[in-house]
Amino acid sequence: MPVSSPSTRALWQQELAGAVRNPEMLCERLGLGDDLRIAAARAAKLFPLLVPESFLARMQRGNPDDPLLRQVLPLDAEFTEVSGFVADPVDDDAARKAPGLLQKYAGRALLITTGACAIHCRYCFRRHYPYAEEPRQLADWEPAFQAIEDDASLQEVLLSGGDPLMLTDARLSAFLDRLETIPHLKRLRIHTRLPIVLPSRVTTDLIERMQTSRLTVFVVLHANHPSELVGDCADMVRQLVRSGITTLNQAVLLRGVNDDIASLTMLCERLIDLGVLPYYLHQLDRVQGAAHFAVSDEVGVSLVYELRRRLPGYAVPEFVREVAGAASKLPVVV
Ligand SMILES: *Cc1c(COP(=O)(O)O)cnc(C)c1O
Ligand code: SF4
Repeated sequence: MPVSSPSTRALWQQELAGAVRNPEMLCERLGLGDDLRIAAARAAKLFPLLVPESFLARMQRGNPDDPLLRQVLPLDAEFTEVSGFVADPVDDDAARKAPGLLQKYAGRALLITTGACAIHCRYCFRRHYPYAEEPRQLADWEPAFQAIEDDASLQEVLLSGGDPLMLTDARLSAFLDRLETIPHLKRLRIHTRLPIVLPSRVTTDLIERMQTSRLTVFVVLHANHPSELVGDCADMVRQLVRSGITTLNQAVLLRGVNDDIASLTMLCERLIDLGVLPYYLHQLDRVQGAAHFAVSDEVGVSLVYELRRRLPGYAVPEFVREVAGAASKLPVVV
């Protein structure tokens, strides 16, 4: 019997299989014009389109400027070469300690658990990452686990990707089982956009596995706009928070998506209303094909300054950028 026939696949896997991958179909579903449809088909060849139905359902029909659509719609602007926008803007290559293991900062290391995501964000800094070179079978991860075991200074492991929640519950649990055997590890962080874009991924089994870990688990979500935090997504995020798992959010400052004070204020308010702490607002990594999303440091800093005037201190994210070779993410200052 096939291992993943539709009937044996989890609901979230079925929903993912039915996600929209065809740019023409996306434009047709949203009632967008031919010019966008043709450009989208062209630019999708640079990085394929992928958007789950749940996320699509939160977009406004007939609005080419919808902030959720802007994050996923391939545009001709992606072909523009802009100096300073490169394939590996954060120098992941230099931080590779073992296949699938990156370490840039003291006390914490990051596992690239999978190259897969449930959505393709056009501004993604890993859109050119050589995922094909990373391990696939669990046994192939052993050198990475061994490197973590050999470095007693590591207290925390971050699961990243791609999106670590793209792994099945069984595979994820096997990762956790192995990490839990390493005595000096205390904390586990899961960086994921799945509760936002494919809320059905947050299963009771998943929550239970995180709750029962020997490690203290943090979930770091990735939502950029308040319109993402509605409906099934808001319900699932609330469930996650109520289960007792500390949940943070990081957003990316994106032109045409959230570079206005009303959107950012409402994003932070919705997050804290759900019990999620805004952690970082990232300055865009300068990846090739994403220059049209760039917002200047001056504008970013003044937006965050204004947020501080409007919101409780715990609702204001730190505005940071990643600088290759630096010992931490750095606050953006002008
Ligand atoms: C961003 C990042 C981290 C996490 O940094 P924090 O400031 O602790 O959130 C850890 N490792 C790598 C490789 C990173 O890129
Ligand atoms: S979910 Fe994260 S890793 Fe995946 S495409 Fe979006 S930004 Fe990139």
